[in-house]
Amino acid sequence: MKISRKGGQVFLAGVIDENADFSQLLQEQAPLSIDFSKVERINSIGIRSWMMFMTRWGDKPLNYHECPVIIADQLAVTPALRGIKKRAAIIMSAYLSFDCSKCRHQEDILVTYDQVQPQLKPGVSDPKCPACGSTMSLINEDQFSIFEPRS
Ligand SMILES: [Zn+2]
Repeated sequence: MKISRKGGQVFLAGVIDENADFSQLLQEQAPLSIDFSKVERINSIGIRSWMMFMTRWGDKPLNYHECPVIIADQLAVTPALRGIKKRAAIIMSAYLSFDCSKCRHQEDILVTYDQVQPQLKPGVSDPKCPACGSTMSLINEDQFSIFEPRS
């Protein structure tokens, strides 16, 4: 995993695995903005290091940007990645997988926090299929839950 920064934002890239070192992020100021768009893969050991980082980071606010589907899936099944004791992280944007009931086309669509909070905006839950124009639906409806506000 490579960590770089531009402006006030930290960018993670590559594979989050046994070699991923989150400790240098502990010196960052809150709120910490992390961009996940260049993350290619994550395994269980990588998830564990991310959780250890969350334990040490504590309740300070974080913002997660451009989470690919593999990260959105982990955020959905492992809420601790959004905060151990309370939700410290806001998911500013994440790709969710939609599919078309008519032509079965699948598309990963970027959904933003503003489209979901404080309530789901019209059209976000049923985007148009780029292949046939029919309405697409989220493969796993529960995924909107990753956009819960900070607690
Ligand atoms: Zn379609």
